[in-house]
This record gives sequence, C-alpha cells and structure tokens, in this order.
Amino acid sequence: MRRDRIVVSVVLALAAVCLSSRSSAQRPEIHRDYQDTTVRACTDFYSFANGGWARSAIIPESERWIGTDADATNRANEVLNGILTDAAARYRTSSDVTTQRLGAFYASCMDSTRANREGLLPVRAELDRIDHVASRADLSRELAHLQLRWVDAAFGTLPSFASLQVRVWAYADMKNSTKNILWLYQGGIGLREPGSYSRADSASKAIRAGYGDHIARTLVLAGTPEPQAKTGAETVLAIETKLAEASLTPEESSVPTNVYEPTTVDKLAAMVPAIDWPAYFAELGVPGLAGNTTLSVSPSKFFRRLNEQLLQRPLADWRTYLRWQLLHSVGPDLGSPSDAESFRLATLITGMTKPPPRAKRCTEEANELMGMAIGKNYVERAFPPAAKKRIEELVANLRTVLRDRIATNDWMGAATKAEALKKVDVLRVEVGYPQTWVDYAPVPISADKPFVENVMLLRRFEDQRHLAKLNRPVDRVEWEMSPAAVNAYENPQFNSLFFPAAILQPPWFSLDADDAMNYGAIGWVIGHELTHFFDDQGRQFDANGNLRDWWLPEDEKRYQDRAQVVRRQYDSYVAIDTLHVNGGQTLNENTADIGGVTIAYYAFQRALASQPRPARGAGYSPDQEFFLNGAQSWRFKTRPELMRLIVAGDGHSPPYWRVNGSVSSLPEFAAAFSCKEGDSMARPPEARARLW
Ligand SMILES: [Zn+2]
Repeated sequence: MRRDRIVVSVVLALAAVCLSSRSSAQRPEIHRDYQDTTVRACTDFYSFANGGWARSAIIPESERWIGTDADATNRANEVLNGILTDAAARYRTSSDVTTQRLGAFYASCMDSTRANREGLLPVRAELDRIDHVASRADLSRELAHLQLRWVDAAFGTLPSFASLQVRVWAYADMKNSTKNILWLYQGGIGLREPGSYSRADSASKAIRAGYGDHIARTLVLAGTPEPQAKTGAETVLAIETKLAEASLTPEESSVPTNVYEPTTVDKLAAMVPAIDWPAYFAELGVPGLAGNTTLSVSPSKFFRRLNEQLLQRPLADWRTYLRWQLLHSVGPDLGSPSDAESFRLATLITGMTKPPPRAKRCTEEANELMGMAIGKNYVERAFPPAAKKRIEELVANLRTVLRDRIATNDWMGAATKAEALKKVDVLRVEVGYPQTWVDYAPVPISADKPFVENVMLLRRFEDQRHLAKLNRPVDRVEWEMSPAAVNAYENPQFNSLFFPAAILQPPWFSLDADDAMNYGAIGWVIGHELTHFFDDQGRQFDANGNLRDWWLPEDEKRYQDRAQVVRRQYDSYVAIDTLHVNGGQTLNENTADIGGVTIAYYAFQRALASQPRPARGAGYSPDQEFFLNGAQSWRFKTRPELMRLIVAGDGHSPPYWRVNGSVSSLPEFAAAFSCKEGDSMARPPEARARLW
C-alpha cells in the first residue's frame, strides 16, 4: 500500500511543465542518442544507456526534474488538460454531472483574476474559527475540522506507507484484513520529513532558516504584525521540532509493526487526555465510538509527545500553529502575494526558479482531487482495450515466473514455500482502471465559488468517503490512485496490485514495441510491484492479507542474511556530494528492483521462446535491448536540493543506483554484455544477493 516510483514528500504539490508532443506510432526502439558509448556497459550501465542525455538535458526552470517520469506525466497531463478544457467550455449547459463538476472545478481554478482580487478572503471564515478556539474542546474539534480539509493539523499526515490522499482514514486492520478500523498517524510538520528538523549539515540548516522566515512572512500576509509574526514562526518551529523528534523516520515507517499500533478508544483517551476525544470524533463524523472500539494510533510515542505539548503550551500558541498550517495547505490558491510566498518555499526546497503555468497546476489538482472522474475520461481517450489485454498477458507471464522461482529457490524450506505460493496464487492484479467509479455528484462544486472552497469541499468529500468505510466490509479491489496517475502500487493487506492506465504508455509500454522493449521497461515495473509482496514489509503479510508471521525461523534467518547483503550494497553508494544512499531506508525498494528485473527477464525468455523475435539486422541482441530499454526507462535528472531530499526521505534509491545496483546483481546481465570478473557491473557472487 504505497505510492511507488519517485514520489518525494515535498512540501508543495507543484506541477511540472512543458507539454511534449505525442510520439508517432512507429515501433519504439532504443534511443541511441541518449547513450554514451564511450562508457563501457560493464563499468557503468546507467551512463552507457543514458549518459549522452544526462549531459545535455536541461531541467526547465519550472520543473522539479526531467526524465521518463516527467515526460510521461506531461503526456498524460496533455490528455487531461484537453478533457478539462472541453468540460470548462460546456459545464453550464451539459447534462452530464461529471462534465459539470470537472468543468466548474477547472474554471474556478483558472480564474486568477478572482483569486488575486479576493486574496485571503476565501479563508477568512476558517481563520475566524481558529481565532475563536478558547478551550481544549474547541481545539479538539478544530483539529478534526481542519484534518477533514487536509490541513496538517497536529497529526494525520499522508503516511509514507499509504497510497491514500486522505488525512484520517478508515482502513483494513493489519491483523484482520476483513475489518475496517480507524487509523490515526503522526503528522503536523510542514517540512514533512522528520530529519529535516534536526540534521546538522549546512544545507539542512539553510532550509530550516528559510522555512522559519517563510512562516513569518505567511503570518504577516494573514494580518499578523511583523514582530508577532516572527515570534509566531518561532513557536510553530518549536512545536514542529518537538513533534518531528517523536516521529518515525522514513526507514522506521517501512516496518509494519511500527505503523500499526492497535489500541482502544478508552486507552487512547488515557494516553492523550489533552484532546477531548468525544468532541474530536463527533466533528470528524464518527461519533459514538464505544470505549472498547479498536483503532490504530501510531506511533504512540508521537501521540504522547503531542499530549505533552498540548498540555504545556497556551492555546494562543496552538491558534498560531493552526493558522500557519491552514495557510500552508492552501497558500498557492489565495492569489498572487500568497502564491508567490508559497513558491519561495518550493524554490528553497526543490531549486525550481519559475512557477509552473496555472493550467498545469489546475490539471494536476483536478487529477489529485477528482481522479476517479477525470481518470474515467482519460481511459476512454488514451487506453485502448488491446493495451489492457496485452498487459494482462504480461502480468500472467511474470506471475508464473515468480511462482516458479519461489518453488525452485534453494534457500526456503518447504513449509515456508507453501505459504508463499498460496500468496502468489491469490494475488489480484488490477490493470488500467477500476470496475466502479466515484460519483462526485454530491459535491456542490461551482465556478461561482472561490476556488479554495471547491478544493476544501472535495478534500472533505474524500475524507468522509473513506471514513464511511468504518461500517462497511473491506473492498479488496478498490482503487486508491487515479487511473491517470503515472504510478503503480501494491497493497499487501489486499494482496492486490494496481497499474493505472497512465503508466502503461511509452517508454514503459507500447502496443507497437517488441517484447524486449516492453518486458525491459513495464515488465521491470510489474516485476518490481510483484516483488513488493515479498520484500521485508510485504513478506510479513499472509495470503489473507493479515500481518502474521508465517516464516520458519531458519528461513527468516536466511532471508535476513540476504537482505543484509542488499542493505550493505546500497549503503556503499554515494548519491550526491558525500551523501550516501541509505540502504535500510531503501531496502524494500531495492529488493523489489533486483527481484523485478529478474522476474521480467525470465518472463521475457518465456515470451521469446514462444514467439522468437524477427532479425533486426546489426544492433543489440534481444537480451541487450531488454536491459537497455529498462535502463533508459529510468533516466532521471534533478537538482542537488531535491536529490538531497530524495536521499533523506524517499524509499527509493536515486534512479542511477536503481539501474546499476540492480543489473550488477544479475549474472544474466553480465552474460548479455560479456562483463568480466572485476567489472563494476558484475558483482562477485558473495556480494550479490537475490531474494526472488
Ligand atoms: Zn516500489
């Protein structure tokens, strides 16, 4: 249940830019112009595949990065923007509710004149509510009120392990995957990644100083006199620092038993008496929870720290903190001074120097908030049934290979293998789009409302839609990601895999491409997601999706020994300056990368055996093409600011090491490129760990 690919938890969800033109319908081939053939494939495969591109590619000022991911996102956005522009032209007359909602949303987002004229007016009522917080009960209600609107109020951030967008949510119990429970999770820190508040290097210190100034200026924009705004920013930073200290690090949050801490409503009330829980739950829309109701509150050390802070600090401090969090959450939508101030923070963190065009931002926001409406249109326009069929065949081949490799591996005992195979057999793979769509008819979006109001309505709708699951059985094939997202995810609690339509496009996948190309790129991605069911997180769930230890101790030991090799391998890689990849934080993703390319490779061999490839003349062999397109599909370039953030907070290794770390672990790669002992891309057997 995680967002995959490169999804950095940066402060602002800012869009990218530059709509690239659609590629023609020719048979996709290796981009020779991207390569640097002065580098040996066996020395540095990423550079052999992408070095020419990496040297010449320039990151546009308003983009966070460039590469395959950005290209595909831009292509998808082009389709989405067409849908929104059409809807905005006819929403007032259309009888179709989806068109009405999408059109009104987009029209209100694009109305920059109104946003500039109104400034902070659309959030005055919310600011007033915060000003009127005069008691613990008021504060408790206000936390729920703001969290329902995705304001990061004290707790309830999007956790790194979840693919959900909501803040407080009902979701399957990790130990009983048929039952939905309420989940409360750490949060409340504007910089998102807890280490940002304590790291001593100069880049981190500069970010903290700039962040403090940004908070002060934001409070000034909301009418706080300057000296008070400065004190206010210090208060906010002090609160956030305390919360960050008690938060799970990205590495810790990849451990299921850290993020799942079952307790009861009564025990929560005893642990955090500073919050009036009946008032909080009532405002959240889940009143009357019995004292013995199970919920997950994690990590408990965070909630104890929050309790301590709530008791120690006067309400005035919390009003300042909430004011900041509210403005932080909608800053870009409140007209130009506020928008510009929000962008200053983005510049500080990502190195972007120019904001993306409004149309791009509005398109991405529509995909985020109404993904199941715009995604349906996207599928109709851009995802033919033949593509779905071809991907399903690919998935079936990969699953067979994974099954065979588990059945025949030499390190697992028979009993553990039997449990693992049960898991493979029940896996569900969802391709392209969901069977049922979300109906946005109940959300009164209107172009006559300020845009922020529409945003808040949709956020609350989404939270309430999730909270309503508390009283319903778990739906294992429910999608949590827009079909128009360039992404994929797996959910170990449902034993389900989800591949949105928008990732099933070139260079990952093309109906016109050879199998070598498709298996090397989308095959690697699918293999990666399949492997997640057996990485150090996924393997702790059984065939029913329950957190249960089904491993015999000796098999677990052998698993951990292999995982240690992977951990050490990636720990040794330098990402930028002297900063190393964190082998622990990225262990699950690295395991999935190595397993993914292996499974894809053997699935490709099966495809090749049943349908040999026609001769293509001089060039690369099918195996070489497989690896080359795989490597080219990971091409990626970003600025130092963001690279540091990826290393500090992302579960994935930088793409350079995703490629080189993976292929150097495969003897099949060494064979394909005739690498010799001692070559960097041919790790010696004792330094090579392949779990799957
Ligand atoms: Zn992954």
